[in-house]
Amino acid sequence: MNKRVALLSVLLLLASSGLAVQTGTHHTLLAPLHRATAGLYEASPPEKTVVFVVLDTVRADRLHACGYARPTTPTLDGLVANGASLTCEARAPGSWTLPSHASFFTGLPVHEHQTDKTSGGCETDCFGVNGAGAHRLEPGFPVLAEALSARGYQTAMISSNPVVSHFSGLDRGFDVVHAAGAWGELRGADLLAQVRSTLRHDLDPERPLFLFVNIAEAHDPFLGVPYMHPYLPARWMRDYSRDEGSEWERLLADTLDPAEREDLLAHLGDLYDYGIERADGALGGVVDLLERHGWTKAGVRLVVVSDHGEYLGEHGLFDHGVDLLEPQQRVPLLVYDTDGAPTLPGGPISALAAHDLVKEGRLPATPAPVVASTSRSPWFALRHHLHIGASAAAAEWLGDAKTLVHADGAVHTDLSADPGEARYAPVAPHEGLLPVEVLYRQADALDRSVTDDAELVQMLKAAGYLEE
Ligand SMILES: [Zn+2]
Repeated sequence: MNKRVALLSVLLLLASSGLAVQTGTHHTLLAPLHRATAGLYEASPPEKTVVFVVLDTVRADRLHACGYARPTTPTLDGLVANGASLTCEARAPGSWTLPSHASFFTGLPVHEHQTDKTSGGCETDCFGVNGAGAHRLEPGFPVLAEALSARGYQTAMISSNPVVSHFSGLDRGFDVVHAAGAWGELRGADLLAQVRSTLRHDLDPERPLFLFVNIAEAHDPFLGVPYMHPYLPARWMRDYSRDEGSEWERLLADTLDPAEREDLLAHLGDLYDYGIERADGALGGVVDLLERHGWTKAGVRLVVVSDHGEYLGEHGLFDHGVDLLEPQQRVPLLVYDTDGAPTLPGGPISALAAHDLVKEGRLPATPAPVVASTSRSPWFALRHHLHIGASAAAAEWLGDAKTLVHADGAVHTDLSADPGEARYAPVAPHEGLLPVEVLYRQADALDRSVTDDAELVQMLKAAGYLEE
């Protein structure tokens, strides 16, 4: 099967599925007619196009391609049916967007680049996000876009997530950057319109292309599910106000009555699945546009990963950015290559492998340790109604054996026997704690800077961590 036919067959499979492709891929039914008239926009790159897509906030267990019952992922299903390699056992290196993207771009674990939350507000070399402070990616760390640029690629970033932008330094090395300036921008049809515009107008059609796209359809605030959806009940968008007494605040504080809580969890689960479906549909739209505008003629390598998952009530947690439990850390990793995709291993693998897959088209010769770390920002802990120190600062996976390091010691469990992580047992001090102990110390160091953030100080006092 030649390259073009192979990718087109993915698109036809998508179209025939009739599902989830909210924008873009319906055009594939018109592809032959379009192609006959599209000469003006056809690129002729001399080398394989390299595409890196981060599906923001997508946990592996809600993907049909990973065994979930609902048909949430016709695009991923189609890519796998056409030779892509997929693992549903990747582990995100960070707990939220910034550290994980910094790891994907640098190829380094979070404790090495230390691009994560600050202790509270923003002092120097940082930026504000969701009311907290975060470190920028420091210029000393080489990134993917620079490496591909040095090999003659033109580089383009299109991001639905405002954190993945010039604010954070994650735009370094990209010739063309179109990033959302605020949440809700560059979503859905707007994102695909930007991809289309970039492919047509921003690029040299005769140079090879490295395209990075962040798709944030599965990130909150979750959109409502429309009536007549083929497999989800109609659901309205929730109010995410954290004002005192609001439904969301009562959910986080666990003060809803059990029936209310159960109803809300079911509602949130449906909204999240709709977000996954929209993310998968946008991925299909990006693939479709690349094909239709000629960017796959010299072949294409596509790597898809998620930066973190989402808590949907497990362990009393919602959202993401705290702790390092499986709903947040277990993510998909997929590679498609017109010359044949490398086989991804079974069992936990660091999602950092995405870096080598994008840059070299293969896995690193020595697999990266499967570790994750996060700064234990007091602001984030209080926002999630956690005691400071209760949230893990580091995690390590050795097969199904998982270790978490908290402020007061380490615990471990066997995920094969305890997939819901209900039975963590203490690990004796210094027993098998390296490298997680090192990770912990480094993650902890991120939180040691003194903050003059008045709001945080007030929150810490209110929670009893600081004397009045
Ligand atoms: Zn994210």
